Formats: sequence, structure tokens, C-alpha cells
Amino acid sequence: MTPTSKQALLNWFDVHQREMPWRLTKDPYAIWVSEMMLQQTQVVTATPYWQRWMERFPTVASLADAPLDDVLMHWQGLGYYARARNMHKAASVVLSDHAGVFPTSYDDLLALPGVGPYTAAAVSSISSNAHRAVVDANVIRVLCRHEGIEDNPKLPAVQVRLQTIADANLDEARPGDFNQAMMELGATLCTPKSPFCDRCPIGDDCIAKKTRMPERYPLPVEKPKAIRRTDVLIIALCDGMTYTHQLPQDGLWGGLYSFPRISVMDGESVIETVTRLAIDILGGENHQPVELGRIRHAVTIYNVELIAYIVNVTEFAADHHNWRSLSEIDTFPMPNPQAKLWAQHKHELLSGRLPVSQPALDL
Ligand code: SF4
Repeated sequence: MTPTSKQALLNWFDVHQREMPWRLTKDPYAIWVSEMMLQQTQVVTATPYWQRWMERFPTVASLADAPLDDVLMHWQGLGYYARARNMHKAASVVLSDHAGVFPTSYDDLLALPGVGPYTAAAVSSISSNAHRAVVDANVIRVLCRHEGIEDNPKLPAVQVRLQTIADANLDEARPGDFNQAMMELGATLCTPKSPFCDRCPIGDDCIAKKTRMPERYPLPVEKPKAIRRTDVLIIALCDGMTYTHQLPQDGLWGGLYSFPRISVMDGESVIETVTRLAIDILGGENHQPVELGRIRHAVTIYNVELIAYIVNVTEFAADHHNWRSLSEIDTFPMPNPQAKLWAQHKHELLSGRLPVSQPALDL
């Protein structure tokens, strides 16, 4: 990138950058929280999460002191819960290894749980002007187009090349702003479809613009086809209580609370599955599951239809500690699809207006 384009990019950023609350601070902790939230999440979605988080955990010490359930509750809906668990761990490391002062050096940041090269570069450059270039999906798109790179950006050799170019481009005096300007350009002008090349500050030396086919770059990467899956879950009801259990810490939704849930196996019907689950968890045999609702969601490579059933029982099964009052369910962090199902039906469940006549549907 020519020096003229670099300066034009910074000038454009100074005028056109979007307002974001974390851009009003140089606090590395607040910037780290924003960067962790913004991975795979749009600014408009992340903003209220960041605000709620900073109200509840305004300092790294307050995050370290908080119960993990509380941390997960404030992350609920953002997905990738390992990030929240790692942030909780990282906060303790900052207290023990850095006397509670959130680090700003790239190497110290990289040593924290859950912090990779992208986050370390972003936090160190934005909070303390460290000379580290960020390369995220937006920057990859801008660089591939600007430099005319036609190779697959997922290949390690291409990633090294992109990082080298990004490092060489970085503005000496304002590396943090330059990093943000590149990401902002990718998010607002150099968009995946129909980029706004006529308004682009670095268009003069952009190879993709010259070809008049900027969308050719970067090379599209084939995504694996989603696999369809059906899951059932049970909302067991007994005397105003329901059964939820905490998921193992190392899983996708580790540490969150879940109603009993399993996948329908090949050759098994939905009714057989929900009956098997009811017997496993609640004991007894004569359950009459009634469908409450269903929701579709994607998780990793799966496109899941999740079907919720109500099962009324007259006495608590084993694991007595897993029975919780219906009125408390909102206070436990849950996987987002279950939280949505709960939100849709909690009024009928809390008021006792239950769908008793609807038979359980098979697929
Ligand atoms: S000129 Fe167009 S393709 Fe090139 S960087 Fe700017 S917006 Fe992207």
C-alpha cells in the first residue's frame, strides 16, 4: 500500500468510523472484552452485551471474583462459551501474575487463556500502540482485493503472506488506529458483496478495483454441507419444579444448564427417543410426553430441529439437587436455543396453562 493510501485510510477512519462504546476508552481490559465478543459477532449485537458486561464486571478483579455461572449468564446468546470460560480464567491469571493490572504487551496478552495472535495484536495496538498488525476476516478480504491475491486464504502459506503484508502496511505512528481502519473498511466499504469502490480511500492502488470484479477476491472457500439432526428435550414438571443439570465444563456449552436433551438416533422415532430420555432421567415408565414447541438452530456442522416436550411427574426422581423452581430458570445460563424456547413458553409454564390435549407428534 502506498504511503498516500495509508494516510488516506487514516483520514477516512478519523471521519467515518462508527461510534462504538469501547472506542471511547484505552482501558486494555475493556478493549479485550470487546475483542472477545466481536469474534464471530456483529457490532450491533455485541454492543449491548459489552455494556451489560462492563456494568456487571467493570474491572478485571470484579470478573475474577464473579461466579462462573454469572459470567456465563452475561455471555448467554453470544455462543462459543469456551471464550467466556477462558475470560474468567484469564482474569484470575491477571490477578495472580500481573498484580491485577491488565497487560498491554503482545507477549503478555498472548500468554493469557483464550487469547490468540489476533486478539493480542488488537488489544496491544489499540490500547498502547504496539506495532502488531491484526488479520481478521475483514482485513483478509481487503488485503486479498487490494493486493490481487487469488490463492485460498485458509492455506497456512497464504496466511503467512497476508500477515507479512499487514505488518508491512502498518502505520508507524498510529498502528492501533490503522488496524481499526482496516477492519472498519472491510466492514463498511469493502463488503463481501457489492463493495463501494468509488468511495474507497485506498482504491487508487487496489488491484481488484482495476479488474472491475472485486468480488472475485478472496477465493470463495467451500463450506461443508450442514447435516440435519433432530434433538428432543424434556421439561419435566413436578410441583412447580423442573429438572435441569449443568453440562460438563469441556463441552461446546460447557458450564451451562440444560434440560434433559438427546439426539434422535438412526432408526429411532421421535416418540421412542423422548420416551427413552424420560425413563433414563425420570425413572418410571408410563410417561405421556406432550409437545410444547420446536425451534431450529445451527450448531457446528449441524442444522438441528429441537423439539421440546412436557412430561408431568408426581415425584422427584434421583438427583434431587437438579430440580429447580420454574421461577428460577431465568437465572441459570442456558444454551441459546433452550433459552429461546424457555422465553417463548415460560408464561404458560409458570401459569400452569399447559398444552395437555396435543398429542406428541412423530416425524
Ligand atoms: S477499492 Fe474496492 S475492492 Fe479495493 S479495497 Fe477498496 S472497496 Fe475493496
